[in-house]
Amino acid sequence: MTLEKIVNYAKLTGYIYQGSEIYGGLSNTWDYGPLGSLLKQNLKDAWLKRFVTESPYNVLLDSSILLNKTVWDASGHLSGFSDPLTECRNCHTRHRADHLIASYDKTLNVDELSKEELYQILTTKKIKCPVCGQSDWTEIRQFNLMFKTNQGPVESDLNTVYLRPETAQGIFINFKNILRTTRKKIPFGVCQIGKAFRNEITPGNFIFRTREFEQMELEFFCQPTTELKWFDYWLEEMKSFLFDLGITEQNIDYHQHSEKELSHYSNKTIDILYRFPWGFDELWGIASRTDYDLKAHQEKSGQALDYLDPETNQNYIPYVVEPSLGVERLLLAVLLEGYREEKLSDGKTRTLLKIHPFLAPYKVAVLPLIRNKHQEKSEEVFKQLAKHFPTVYDETQTIGRRYRRQDQIGTPFAVTIDDETLINNTVTVRERDSMAQVRLEIEPAIEYIKARIKF
Ligand code: ATP
Repeated sequence: MTLEKIVNYAKLTGYIYQGSEIYGGLSNTWDYGPLGSLLKQNLKDAWLKRFVTESPYNVLLDSSILLNKTVWDASGHLSGFSDPLTECRNCHTRHRADHLIASYDKTLNVDELSKEELYQILTTKKIKCPVCGQSDWTEIRQFNLMFKTNQGPVESDLNTVYLRPETAQGIFINFKNILRTTRKKIPFGVCQIGKAFRNEITPGNFIFRTREFEQMELEFFCQPTTELKWFDYWLEEMKSFLFDLGITEQNIDYHQHSEKELSHYSNKTIDILYRFPWGFDELWGIASRTDYDLKAHQEKSGQALDYLDPETNQNYIPYVVEPSLGVERLLLAVLLEGYREEKLSDGKTRTLLKIHPFLAPYKVAVLPLIRNKHQEKSEEVFKQLAKHFPTVYDETQTIGRRYRRQDQIGTPFAVTIDDETLINNTVTVRERDSMAQVRLEIEPAIEYIKARIKF
């Protein structure tokens, strides 16, 4: 499976378009079309269902993108949220030094290297610029990834605000509010889905690395010394979530951060990697963040962010375990996982998007066998079905082509209306993957489909 194939497929079907296309585009921005926006929503719904609704521990939050800038000072983002930048002296393009080295030598763990070590490798190995082929690099400087702007009509340092580069900090600063208003006891978690922005030096690989993206994050608060137990608990939950969604185990790998590689706030971090077309790369990270964030906000804000255990009367700053997932990276993995070109017995090929029915943009397509004869009844059936799930109606071209069209976009069921429907109110329900058909009355057909789209 190549990246190019999935980009073309996404564009052709209406999953994902290039951003600002009629103006020549804006590099590395993408718009989610009628199908893509539904798939994105379904991914978020699946995550919410698993991590909020069905969890005995977690609640939901929706905090602002713009936060008081002291938040980013306290969290360390202002001073430390940066990537190593180098510039090619020949063609003046800018690159991430760690990525240049990682593509040159895949055996090196670049996250363990200092910027001096990165520079030394760049120069001694004479690593070439991917744009012009020369090897003449400037010294490496740390480039801060936060987007900066002004709040209000006056441009001044006093009005500086940042677009959040992660949703997590909005959770930490609301810790006391949530504790007070939900009467939750530790251990408990707070989930959030929302946009995050990072001024990536080299975005790319389609929707894998963009400057605007969405995160689904959980900050799980627990008693110190129990964090590694909870780490294992959430890692298992993450794996089940992926496998239940249809991600296959053979396409998943894990990378545990070494001592040198760990962020200053973490005592354990594992990345779940997915086999993207360019190799295994990070899909979902889980980090044990200790009490770093709450402590930092307590110090900066002067507000107590500790917890009094009602049973033991012990007072402590909770430790935090954080699974953090990018919506778009999951969406890309789901498309890659589901895309098939299947040879049929008649020698033809059908394109199929074999995704979990819960994720499919449309659950069912209503198809009149013959437009003139079955249209009216089909419209009635459409109305009935659309009350229960996203339904699409299609009456153009032959029934075979319409089936193919639905297979291609991943619609798990097609309901066909024919002469018999007019007589006894039965329809054929065709299943996407097996192409098997059953004949059912409308109400039982609704129940049949409902039972099969559950997550
Ligand atoms: P990477 O090493 O790939 O830059 P990261 O380790 O900086 O990722 P985190 O800060 O752990 O990423 O962010 C959590 C999750 O958010 C990632 O696992 C990924 O799914 C998603 N994510 C991070 N940066 C981007 C981006 N630029 N575009 C799309 N998704 C992203």
